[in-house]
Amino acid sequence: MTTLAFLGLGAMGDPMAAHLATHARAHGHRALVWNRTAAKAGAHADTHGTHPATLAEAAAADVIFTCLPTSAEVDEVMNQMRPHLRPGATWVDCTSGHPDAATRQAAELTAQGVTFLDAPVSGGTVGAQQGRLTVMVGGDTAALDAARPHLAFAGKVVHVGGTGAGFAVKAVNNALLGVTLWATGEGLAVLGRAGVNLGAALDVINASSGRSNASENLIPQRVLTREFPATFALGLLAKDAGIAVDLTQGVQGSAPVIAQVAALLRAARHVVGPAEDHTAALKLIEAMNAQEIR
Ligand code: NDP
Repeated sequence: MTTLAFLGLGAMGDPMAAHLATHARAHGHRALVWNRTAAKAGAHADTHGTHPATLAEAAAADVIFTCLPTSAEVDEVMNQMRPHLRPGATWVDCTSGHPDAATRQAAELTAQGVTFLDAPVSGGTVGAQQGRLTVMVGGDTAALDAARPHLAFAGKVVHVGGTGAGFAVKAVNNALLGVTLWATGEGLAVLGRAGVNLGAALDVINASSGRSNASENLIPQRVLTREFPATFALGLLAKDAGIAVDLTQGVQGSAPVIAQVAALLRAARHVVGPAEDHTAALKLIEAMNAQEIR
């Protein structure tokens, strides 16, 4: 029997592990779950038929999934699990992590006969609930082929390169989210000050070349409504943009727009709060312009 373990039952991990449980049931596998706040693992077991496990028990699984805030938390659990890992296992890290951490973690695990895949996801909490996430994978293709049947939460799986490439693509994707979100917020604040109806302005932009996911979905649904539902934390988006800046420096590249937006998101995280939804970053633009985006 194949044992699958999912660690980190947060906004993303909880529904991802639910799909893993359905997959495990259908194929005669065993699905273990672990969460720092153990009550969440108990609730997951009650709802989805998974098995709450200790870190040592989860470490003995054939495939170990993690979905934690950053690579630092993955390091924490990896250090505790290392004595119990089994050679031949695969560690699939769905955290939006750091490429440098992936390189180090992959080397450490290889020494124990464990394969590491960086496999961050996009699609948000709705994509996780629907089991339609896009998974961008860095690492060994044979290991991915072996793990692929267990990516039960995926709608699309793309191998993007060697170890760390998945984290790199995720960081750049989210930096682009930050750029479009921030720039659209600036434009709308200016239009608001000019007395333009912002719903009408978005109607035009979304039928024109300035449109993006921010203009089509995020801002109408979350900012104009003033709901800012906290599904993806501002602190996590700021972290991702920061990784894109590190990546730029690591390859001696030049990406000043991404660097600027990373700094602005860091400022918004300090001013607005890290646990607020990422769209609440636009509250800083509102303050800068004495203009609500509504
Ligand atoms: P959440 O904050 O909702 O969940 C974080 C999870 O990590 C919780 O299970 C939490 O446990 C656990 N955790 C936090 N600190 C530690 C620690 N020190 N040791 C062990 N476990 C810890 O985050 P998300 O689910 O939103 O995000 C997870 C990852 O997915 C991040 O890298 C994020 O960037 C990425 N992501 C998020 C998306 C989204 O829309 N939310 C979309 C795509 C990617 P506890 O319950 O005890 O707090």
